[in-house]
Amino acid sequence: MIERSTKYVQDVENYLQQKGHSSNIEILEFMQKNYADISATTVHRITTRLVERRKISLAPVAKGNVMRFDANIAAHDHFLCSNCDMLRDANVADDIRPMLEQSIGDGCHISGNLVITGLCKKCSKESKI
Ligand SMILES: [Zn+2]
Ligand SMILES: [Zn+2]
Repeated sequence: MIERSTKYVQDVENYLQQKGHSSNIEILEFMQKNYADISATTVHRITTRLVERRKISLAPVAKGNVMRFDANIAAHDHFLCSNCDMLRDANVADDIRPMLEQSIGDGCHISGNLVITGLCKKCSKESKI
């Protein structure tokens, strides 16, 4: 029993490492290919525990406020495609932050990570057709 759950945790970590970002639903679909009887509750428990242990972090939510996880635990910014929900890790240069703060104004400081929205390459191509 213990061995099996260790295997689950490893598989979830590996999958997320490959994908970069993923939701519980996507993780469950992947896991069910190998373990037909794995439940949504089990996947939820694994991801919650991994976040608590700081093995993974929380990524910007997907459409419908669906929680997403991030294999990258370092602080980083994201590009989010508003059409297909694709997330891409980004690092907005430090010297851009003061410029952004200036345009926001009123002494507001940017301390959190930035999420920049737009269309990914694939979606911007499709929208031109
Ligand atoms: Zn897209
Ligand atoms: Zn990320």
